[in-house]
Amino acid sequence: MTLRRILPVALLVPLLLLSVAFQGTGKPTTPPKPEDQIVYVTKTGTKYHTATCHYLSKSKIAIKLGDVVKKYTPCSVCKPPVLKNPK
Ligand SMILES: [Zn+2]
Repeated sequence: MTLRRILPVALLVPLLLLSVAFQGTGKPTTPPKPEDQIVYVTKTGTKYHTATCHYLSKSKIAIKLGDVVKKYTPCSVCKPPVLKNPK
């Protein structure tokens, strides 16, 4: 009786393949955290900016959005992203 030996294997192999396929492609893609977005501040200013703002011509310091909310306010010219729920 070879069928009895083959049958469980024949059932297991597709299951194994499926689980491997899921591990490879089934990664949950976590969206970037809003507080990890990069915005820019200047040495002296009290506002933060997007990368393209002309206020950054003198100095341009990259900083995470999560770190600017305490000290800086969003620029009214370039309108950088605003963190809605600062911790
Ligand atoms: Zn600006």
